[in-house]
Amino acid sequence: MADYDCTRCGACCVNPLENRAEGYTEYVTVTPRDALLKHPKIVERYVVFNDDGHAHLKLDAGHRCAALKGGLGRKVRCEIYALRPAPCRRVEAGSEGCLRARREQGLPI
Ligand code: SF4
Ligand code: SF4
Repeated sequence: MADYDCTRCGACCVNPLENRAEGYTEYVTVTPRDALLKHPKIVERYVVFNDDGHAHLKLDAGHRCAALKGGLGRKVRCEIYALRPAPCRRVEAGSEGCLRARREQGLPI
């Protein structure tokens, strides 16, 4: 069985191919209840607002969340772990969504 160690993965922090195919770049939603919105420097660095004013985590050129540091599938770190928004807290290692993300990134499942 694969080792679902998030610190050696990061797959679910990448905008999925399905979204990208549809030009969809709003991967992780940030709601007004998420504490990170109270930190202007973090908002500036990691959050984007769409035309409707809804907040999402910023993605880098590689379609990864801008807060994800390190090498995917090797050693990763979330720079805003303590303040990560609700969708990030809901993902469970070994869940269907986790396995889908890992499969897409070529990691063992
Ligand atoms: S895809 Fe699964 S194992 Fe990888 S970081 Fe997300 S929850 Fe953790
Ligand atoms: S905030 Fe952290 S846990 Fe959430 S997608 Fe970005 S790197 Fe992953």
